[in-house]
Amino acid sequence: MKAFQYATAHSTDSARELVAGNGLYLAGGNDLFGLLKEYLVGADLLVNIKSLPGLNKVEHGKTFWTIGSLVTVAEIEDHAEIKKVFPGLHDAAAEIASQQIRNVATVGGNLAQHSRCWYFRHRDTQCLKKHGDLCYARDGENRYHSLFTGNSCISPVVSSLATTFAALDATAIVLRDGQETRMSMAELYHGAWENPLAHNSLDKGDLILRVEIPTTRTRSAYLQVSDKHAFDWALVSCAAAAAVVDGKLKSPRVALGSISPVPHQVEAANSFLDGKVLDDATATQAADLILKDAKPLEHNAYKVPMAHAIIRRTLLKLKGDA
Ligand SMILES: Cc1cc2nc3c(=O)[nH]c(=O)nc-3n(C[C@H](O)[C@H](O)[C@H](O)COP(=O)(O)OP(=O)(O)OC[C@H]3O[C@@H](n4cnc5c(N)ncnc54)[C@H](O)[C@@H]3O)c2cc1C
Ligand code: SF4
Repeated sequence: MKAFQYATAHSTDSARELVAGNGLYLAGGNDLFGLLKEYLVGADLLVNIKSLPGLNKVEHGKTFWTIGSLVTVAEIEDHAEIKKVFPGLHDAAAEIASQQIRNVATVGGNLAQHSRCWYFRHRDTQCLKKHGDLCYARDGENRYHSLFTGNSCISPVVSSLATTFAALDATAIVLRDGQETRMSMAELYHGAWENPLAHNSLDKGDLILRVEIPTTRTRSAYLQVSDKHAFDWALVSCAAAAAVVDGKLKSPRVALGSISPVPHQVEAANSFLDGKVLDDATATQAADLILKDAKPLEHNAYKVPMAHAIIRRTLLKLKGDA
């Protein structure tokens, strides 16, 4: 690992100033230290943001909840009210990595975590995402990769929280150039959809402050399938959220993770589900719509039936009989 200096920021202004040279924000360090050790990123200064005031709180109001970017994944998992109001978010948090990692992993770091593509993570491979001229996964080992992409890189977003926040229509509040900017999950990852070099839409120095979740969708659910039961990223994940009025879905949203550089949402499926009574046939039709344009590669076609099954199961979980 390259030598670096270390500073603790006590205000968002000082954090931004410190990071402005060749600095990087450090939260729980789960992802960042791996990248530094493998020489995948370099920094002269690590800016510890864990002491920034006010970002480690979960606050709830009538119309939305606020989760600070320094709240840990374990705090989400252990929060009794979150479990009641946003069960999908609780279940997503509880599936992440291991207890030790969840204890220190933060919401901001989870959303900003980098690609898990094994070519990207190999220090000697200079793929598109590292300014090379080839995506090695396209004709190589692509079993963990995307079914959808807007560019030549097929590395998917793997943040379980992003998938769930997308279904809940949450907004990330990002400090950019001294101003608070609001980004939907689609906007937060759009950069990775169009640019193979990007993991998300954050610019250098952008700081995720908090996430706001509207309370309109009173039901939510999350499921993932992984190679291992614990300590593993999802092969495919699915989150769904909606209100239910007179037994019918209202404002439903379904989002998938690990199959696209953005949390994958299909507006036609959300519209199709709106006003429907959930049953197996409806859930199946929604899954068909969501996966209609999937473009599987040589080794990841298994993700299509897997995604189809967990979309159906996640949707049926919304009505409580999965
Ligand atoms: C074995 C294993 C299994 C895992 N499984 C899963 C899984 O199933 N699902 C899942 O979602 N994750 C999974 N993870 C990833 C883990 O959740 C993330 O590495 C962790 O959440 C990162 O959070 P952190 O606070 O440690 O971030 P750090 O490592 O400190 O930071 C990560 C990146 O985010 C940037 N950053 C941090 N905070 C902010 C902020 N507030 N604003 C802007 N940029 C910021 C940093 O500069 C860095 O680039 C797994 C990790 C491991 C090791
Ligand atoms: S999928 Fe993206 S990160 Fe992986 S080899 Fe291709 S360009 Fe690199």
